Amino acid sequence: MNRVSTFPAESWPSSATGNDVIAVHPAAAALGITSELLQSRGLRLYEEAAERVLAETDAEGREFQLTPAASAAWQAIKAAAADQGIVLELESAYRSVARQVEILQAKLAAGETLHEALRWVAPPGCSEHHTGRAVDIGTPGSLALVEDFENTSAFAWLQQHAGRQGWVMSYPRGNTQGYGYEPWHWCFEGTETAG
Ligand SMILES: [Zn+2]
Repeated sequence: MNRVSTFPAESWPSSATGNDVIAVHPAAAALGITSELLQSRGLRLYEEAAERVLAETDAEGREFQLTPAASAAWQAIKAAAADQGIVLELESAYRSVARQVEILQAKLAAGETLHEALRWVAPPGCSEHHTGRAVDIGTPGSLALVEDFENTSAFAWLQQHAGRQGWVMSYPRGNTQGYGYEPWHWCFEGTETAG
């Protein structure tokens, strides 16, 4: 389901040579991110979702966009959870490459090394949030984007039901991409066709 970027690699800066060069987004290259780094972690490029709809607005007026299909899937899972007394909220949804640059720059400005920052923040161009199909989920009573989310009833519900509705927890413990464990981050990969 994931769409891999088809930008021509030769038009992007890369310190690697050879046949299997993974293109580095210019914004990532500007931050010192190399194709070797992407390759060593098995990271991939995602295109920014061209077609997006407003999926949710939170109490502070923050707007969250998703692709039309992911937004519909989000409404469905949110309603299904609500039916069982579980409140699911968006903490993050679609994110542009430019926004990803800002997030990473803020981490670096706060004193983190690039290596440290990239454990929790994807290189610009490589965030699943660019696709408009990935969400960070929160629930009342739990801090946002912390591992303790896994102890909430919302997470228990997601583990039991989200997969059947086409959602995948992208970064479990020990994920091969080298990200930290993110029980809050789920991506809509499409619904299964029941057979
Ligand atoms: Zn996320």
